[in-house]
Amino acid sequence: MADMSRIAVVGASLAGLRAVQTLRSEGFAGDITLIGAETHRPYNRPPLSKSVLRGDDDVTLPGAEELGGEWLGNRRAVRLRVDRSPGAATASTGGGSITLDDGTEIPFDGLVIATGARPRRLAERPGGVHELRTIDDALALRAELDAGHRNLVIVGGGFIGGEIASTARALGLTVTLVDAGPYPMHRVLGVDTARWLAAHHQKNGVELISGIRVAGFESRDGRVTGVRLEDGRSIPADLVVAGMGIVPNVEWLEGSGLTLDDGVVCTPSLFAEGTSTIVAAGDVARWRHELYGGALVRVEHWANANAQGAVAARNLLAGPESAVPYADVPAFGTHTHGARIQTAGLPHLADEARTVHGAPEEGSFVVAFLRGGVLVGAVGVNAPKELNRLKRGIAAGDVLEAATS
Ligand SMILES: Cc1cc2nc3c(=O)[nH]c(=O)nc-3n(C[C@H](O)[C@H](O)[C@H](O)COP(=O)(O)OP(=O)(O)OC[C@H]3O[C@@H](n4cnc5c(N)ncnc54)[C@H](O)[C@@H]3O)c2cc1C
Repeated sequence: MADMSRIAVVGASLAGLRAVQTLRSEGFAGDITLIGAETHRPYNRPPLSKSVLRGDDDVTLPGAEELGGEWLGNRRAVRLRVDRSPGAATASTGGGSITLDDGTEIPFDGLVIATGARPRRLAERPGGVHELRTIDDALALRAELDAGHRNLVIVGGGFIGGEIASTARALGLTVTLVDAGPYPMHRVLGVDTARWLAAHHQKNGVELISGIRVAGFESRDGRVTGVRLEDGRSIPADLVVAGMGIVPNVEWLEGSGLTLDDGVVCTPSLFAEGTSTIVAAGDVARWRHELYGGALVRVEHWANANAQGAVAARNLLAGPESAVPYADVPAFGTHTHGARIQTAGLPHLADEARTVHGAPEEGSFVVAFLRGGVLVGAVGVNAPKELNRLKRGIAAGDVLEAATS
C-alpha cells in the first residue's frame, strides 16, 4: 500500500462516497476528508427526474449515513496545489493541499477528484426556468408543479429531458420538447433508435420540435410566458426545464498543473496524467479507455461513477505501478413513457449499424454498432437480454457473428 496518512476526496456524491467506502474496506486507517459543495450528504440522482417529481423523496445512497471520514459539507474547493519534487520523473508527485472557499487549507498525501458535472445554463433566465441536477433543483421544480404550472417546455431532448417529459406527461402536463438535432439523442442512440424515440414521444402526447435552437424567452413580471425559437416562433410556456447537457466541474483545478480537457485527463488506471498520488472518478474523469485503443472517454452515467469511485480508490492505495486499468463497458439505461432504453459501449464510434433483434415498429429491438466489423456499441429498446449479450461481446472485442451466435 502507498505511504499515505491523509487522503482528501473532493465531491461528496456517488463517486466520492464509493471512494471513501473503498478506502476503508481496503484497510486504509489514516484520515479521510470528504469535501462537498452541497449541504446534503451523498444522495442518489437518478430518482430526481422520476419518482421525486412525483412526490417520493427517497434518494438514499446506501452507506451515506456512516461516511467513514470527516465530512465537510457546504464547502467548495477553489484551488489545488500539487507538490512536485524538483527533478522527479513527470509521473511522480507528493501530496499537496486544497484551498476551500472559506480559506481553509486541507493538506493531503493522496487525492480523489470526484467533482462531477453541472448543467449547461442558458444565459437569460426569467422565473420559471429550471435545470435539474440536485435535490434542491428537483424540489424547486416539484414546487412549481404543485403550484399548478401545467404548460411545460423542455429545452434539449437528452435522457434527462426525455425522462422529465415522460414524468410530466404521466402527471398530465402539456409538454413541448425542443431539440436542436434531427431527432432527440440521435448521436447517442444512432438514427434508427432516435427516430423511433421521436415517434414514441409523439405517441405519448409530447409535442416535439426538432432541428431548431432556442433563442430566448418571453416573460411578464419576471416570469416566463414563452420560449422563443431561432426562426422567430414563440411557444407558450409557464414552466421551462433546460436539459442541454453538462460540463465537468474542473475550474478549481486550473493552475494546478493537471491536464484538463473536457474533464480531468487520466491514465487507463484513473491517475490524473503526470501524477502518482491523484486519481479522478465519475462524471469529471476523462480517461484512456483500453477497450477503445486508449481513446479518451468521459462517461456521465451512474454505473460508471459507482464503479470508478471504487477502482480509483483502490488504485490510489496500490500506487501507479500496481494499479489496474478501468476498462468496463460504459452502460446506461432509462425509462421513457414506459419503454426501457439501454445503451452499451460507445455507439458513436461506429462506422456501421445493424439491427440484430426485433424491429422499431415492434417496439422491441436491438441495434449493434460496429467499427471495422468489431462490436463497439449496442442500443436496445425493451430487449434487456439481447442487449446484455452484445454488451458481453463488446467487452470481449467480438465481431458481430461471435456475439450473436
Ligand atoms: C436528474 C438526473 C437523473 C439521472 N438519471 C440517471 C439514470 O437513470 N441512469 C444513469 O446511469 N445515470 C443517471 N444520472 C447520472 C448520474 O446521476 C451521474 O452520472 C452521477 O451522479 C455522477 O456521479 P459523480 O459522483 O461523478 O458526480 P456528481 O453526482 O455530479 O457529484 C459531484 C459532486 O461534487 C460537488 N462539487 C462540484 N465541485 C465541487 C468543488 N469545487 N468542491 C466541492 N464539491 C464540489 C457537487 O456539488 C456534487 O455534489 C442522472 C443524473 C441526474 C442529474
